[in-house]
Amino acid sequence: MIPSVLPTYNRAPLSFVKGEGSWLTEADGRRFLDLGAGIAVNALGHAHPDLVAALTDQAQNLWHVSNLYQIPQQQALADKLVAATFADTVFFTNSGTEACELAVKMARKYNHDRDQPNRTDIITFSGSFHGRSSAGIAAAGSEKMTHGFGPLLPGFIHLPWNDHDALKAAITDTTAAIMIEPVQGEGGIRPLPDHCLKGLRDLCDEHDLLLILDEVQCGMGRTGKLFAHEWAGIEPDIMMVAKGIGGGFPLGAVLATENAASGMTAGTHGSTYGGNPLGCAVGKAVMDHVSDPKFLENVNRKAGLFRQKLEGLIAAHPDTFSEVRGTGLMLGLQCVTPNIDMVNAGYDNLVITVPAADNVIRLLPTLNITEADITTAISRLDKAASQIESS
Ligand SMILES: *Cc1c(COP(=O)(O)O)cnc(C)c1O
Repeated sequence: MIPSVLPTYNRAPLSFVKGEGSWLTEADGRRFLDLGAGIAVNALGHAHPDLVAALTDQAQNLWHVSNLYQIPQQQALADKLVAATFADTVFFTNSGTEACELAVKMARKYNHDRDQPNRTDIITFSGSFHGRSSAGIAAAGSEKMTHGFGPLLPGFIHLPWNDHDALKAAITDTTAAIMIEPVQGEGGIRPLPDHCLKGLRDLCDEHDLLLILDEVQCGMGRTGKLFAHEWAGIEPDIMMVAKGIGGGFPLGAVLATENAASGMTAGTHGSTYGGNPLGCAVGKAVMDHVSDPKFLENVNRKAGLFRQKLEGLIAAHPDTFSEVRGTGLMLGLQCVTPNIDMVNAGYDNLVITVPAADNVIRLLPTLNITEADITTAISRLDKAASQIESS
């Protein structure tokens, strides 16, 4: 008999009842160190007092009004995002995949409105992940995500992850945009080198294409800059954001330049919940922290410390880990043995990690993780690795 919850997830037998900072308490009382942070969502940790205050204050006044009316909380968050980034304008969504939908629509409408209606194709890359909507799975294009769900939304050109010649050859007069994650998350924590991101920007300029960055996982301070592309010193035309932006409240956004967004006039797009007062009040509180240079400095310091300790860990466990990769606090350990065994051994040793492709376990801690918690994380991962080695 089908479970009452649609069984699309392989769930671990863990049920958390409380969260505090980087810690989660299981129903049986065990306390887990959370290096998953809801898959890069709980950027400020669990139950951050400023987020709790923002949520409860707003909840006592007004939860929801339609986008048919002015929403000052939305305006405030949009103003903050515009001031802090390349973007001139923001549309709020409830999720990353919903941001992907708009990014695709925006790129097509842009070309339609400048009398280039044939330019509908978007180039994407193997190992990418853009969400589970029809556009999201068509964009990523992997067999795993698309099998059985055809016919797929047309207009995506799938290329290998780092094949410059294939990329140059794939650009034609029907190409509208290139869409890429500056650091692949689900794909196994694969950072795009800065010079490649610069190269993509140049290529887009040369061929009059839009550069769409998916910063749903790597954005919002995760890499030690507010957005990952800042490391390369370039700017996209369109950017998808979600996960960390709501700190645990479902919130996403599409940020765009005035030029790229020029086709999105009244009536061309909408969302019932997107940008509602509750979500934006929390998002504003998250932004107040994450956009502070001191906060980002701290992320970089913790990231350096964490990475250094992880290098030590893999040196101590060469039969379990083959490499550490990633940038900032978006880290991955590539495993020698199946990554899921390591995730499970982590559960046994009260540390939560997240599997990804390429036999990687992801370490996506809260961005304000303490040094003491980093030390605890390493000692628990060390125990988990030893457990695998002795089994
Ligand atoms: C998680 C993720 C998405 C999808 O976000 P949802 O909120 O799950 O729809 C899209 N792109 C990237 C890079 C992601 O990590």
